[in-house]
Amino acid sequence: MSLTDKFGRPITDLRISVTDRCNYKCVYCRTGNDGALYSDLAFSEYLRMCRVLVSLGITKIRITGGEPLLRRGVIDFVKELRSLDADEALDIALTTNGHLLAELVQPLKDAGLNRVTVSMDAVDRERFARITRVPDGFDNVLSGIRAVREAGLWPVKVNCVLMRGFNEDQIAAFGRFAREEGVVVRFIEFMPLEEDRVWSPQVVVRLDEILQRMAEYMPLVEIPHALSETARRYRFEDGVGEIGIIAPVSHPFCGHCSRIRITSDGKIRTCLFSVWDHDLYGLMRRGASDEQLEQFIRDVVQRKEERHHIGEADFVPASRTMVHIGG
Ligand code: SAM
Repeated sequence: MSLTDKFGRPITDLRISVTDRCNYKCVYCRTGNDGALYSDLAFSEYLRMCRVLVSLGITKIRITGGEPLLRRGVIDFVKELRSLDADEALDIALTTNGHLLAELVQPLKDAGLNRVTVSMDAVDRERFARITRVPDGFDNVLSGIRAVREAGLWPVKVNCVLMRGFNEDQIAAFGRFAREEGVVVRFIEFMPLEEDRVWSPQVVVRLDEILQRMAEYMPLVEIPHALSETARRYRFEDGVGEIGIIAPVSHPFCGHCSRIRITSDGKIRTCLFSVWDHDLYGLMRRGASDEQLEQFIRDVVQRKEERHHIGEADFVPASRTMVHIGG
């Protein structure tokens, strides 16, 4: 079985948000106060959605949020996801801010997790606090990253959203960090998905500038990568250390997008920039069979948007911000 959209793109990658609560308030994502919340579902409900999607050809599931580690049941959820595929081919990944990761990473690995990506937007402690609006999170996140490495979940990926005025001067320091810590640092161009609506083209730190700033520390050489990979991959000139750049604004990769998302309240989103979502949970609640869910998902996939319109005159903001979508 496989899912293909009307542009011929195979849909193999699911990102599922298990909560839209978060213990961080990163400037590029959330607003400074608590903000409105949608609801979380029981893990058994996410599991049923995943089971149906895996039967339709999804081969990668990334658990995200909000902050997914705020839900302690996440370890059992990983175990149950792992039991969905007898031949262990399913790739199960997690995106987290790392605050609670140090103690959870080994149990998560034992449950069947394959990969972890940790968000960290500055290597400077004070800058980190300014971006996350959390005064004392830095040490937790650093311990979390090191714990992933010690647990042997390779490669350890660290995501850094760049926002002019906040952290563009951290690029070279992140280069050093990647080499010293043995992690892949991936810079992400800031997208207009934040609660505070402060996005403008000028705030985006683009791929070319990232390469230029890194070259002042040490030049990068591009590594060939699969077209469906969101990140362009680079190694340092001397062969030590890897950097990724995810450049949805300056170098969109929509033509190779293989993703769909499920929000914490059970809606399918076919694009980060969708202006509507599709109520899978509503259908489940009304007693739909697995076959009816399958048909619904197939129909929804046919409506996947061709591309985003960031920076264009006809850009319409997404109907949800990142924390309520699940990045
Ligand atoms: N709480 C987890 C975390 O911090 O990784 C998971 C959820 S977070 C929404 C997922 C990813 O989205 C993070 O890597 C974050 O940096 C990224 N993100 C959030 N808002 C963004 C924006 N406006 N533009 C680009 N990336 C964004």
